[in-house]
Amino acid sequence: MKRTIVEVILALALIGAGAFGWTNWKGNQKATGQLTELKAASEEATKAVGEKEAAIKAAEEEMSALREEMAPLEGQAQQLAAVKAAMANGITLTDLEAAYKSQKNLSAERQVGLGALRMLTKGADDPVAVEAFRKALKASELGDRKNTICAAQIGLAAAGEKIAILPECLPKPAKVKEAKEDKGEKSGAEEKSAEKDAHSKDDGHDHGKDDGKGKAEEKGGHEKKAVHWSYEGDMGPERWGKEFPTCAKGKSQSPLDIRGPFVKTRTVVTTDYKEGPLKMVNNGHTIQVNVPAGSKLRIDGIAYDLLQFHFHRPSEEKIDGKPMAMVVHFVHKNAEGKLAVVGVLLKEGNENPGIKTLWANMPMEEGPEVTPEGVNFNPANLLPREFDFYSYEGSLTTPPCTEGVRFFILKTTVNVAKEQVAAFPFKRNARPVQELNGREISTN
Ligand SMILES: [Zn+2]
Repeated sequence: MKRTIVEVILALALIGAGAFGWTNWKGNQKATGQLTELKAASEEATKAVGEKEAAIKAAEEEMSALREEMAPLEGQAQQLAAVKAAMANGITLTDLEAAYKSQKNLSAERQVGLGALRMLTKGADDPVAVEAFRKALKASELGDRKNTICAAQIGLAAAGEKIAILPECLPKPAKVKEAKEDKGEKSGAEEKSAEKDAHSKDDGHDHGKDDGKGKAEEKGGHEKKAVHWSYEGDMGPERWGKEFPTCAKGKSQSPLDIRGPFVKTRTVVTTDYKEGPLKMVNNGHTIQVNVPAGSKLRIDGIAYDLLQFHFHRPSEEKIDGKPMAMVVHFVHKNAEGKLAVVGVLLKEGNENPGIKTLWANMPMEEGPEVTPEGVNFNPANLLPREFDFYSYEGSLTTPPCTEGVRFFILKTTVNVAKEQVAAFPFKRNARPVQELNGREISTN
């Protein structure tokens, strides 16, 4: 009987032998004192096997759940692969680039299309694609085009660029939402942090060639503000060129210190601005009023749509070396995509009634566009009566500093009260004046 028990226990121990590295168990047959030990060891081994089996089962369940989740994505991946295959020979891209070559200023939508096509054809590292998305983003900031902005931002992130993506551009974090609904009693702060987590997880950076450092910076960006340039410090105007080469290398940059000699021009400029519902945004760099369609500028009869106007403090332009308290930049675009900016210098003096209306409705913190109910505004309220100007070929005064922008700085200033200047939420948001580089400044 005893022998049978020993045999059974030894058989059990043999099962566990592999796990415990027992190779010399045979020599211990006689030692009955060790039988209990063997028994315990074999039991342990059995238990370990059981645990492992449970773990494998859990992993299998998880895999099958994941597979279920992946199923709808598989279809999308296949579609994308088909599109990629169609573009792979590069002919479509060559064709499109040839077609766009003659056009000087591509629209934001065309830039996005070009960037996407280049990315599909040449891969995520293509610098021309990155540049196209950047251009699209810049052009889009001038108008109200959420989809284009989102496409360009997502494109840049996919290319591994450091870019903060607007929350409204991110895919809906479905899981977080469910969790939130489950725990209805969650505090506001907790919800916010859950949303933030979802963003940093889903914003595409994890798939890029991020080097960790960039990621940390980007996360910092999410905590604070979604900016990657500013008017001071590490990201100040002197450093813009690092990320936006045109800002440093461009030869026709804005703003300018406007001083003679001037060239006489016969160019005729007129405005036809219309009243419309007020739409304002604090984009972290300035207060911007987005203008509904219908307001126009005409340069020698050619119509330019007024897209938006915004403020700088102090004025970016200097006249004979002197800045004004502030400047309003009215940004226009014609059918070909060419930009024209009218600058109205604001001089400290009486209260400005137009600015009073705007300041009463402006968002003090960075955020999405606001549309105060029942408030209309006519941009013409901020224009002086006379339309004498200085004119020159310049650039956007913010990154990416794109050139080919026609500037008209009005000679007649408009008043703004000291208190109104002080109430503007940006203490300093003016790029320093740039080199003239032989450019002509004309005057009418
Ligand atoms: Zn400006």
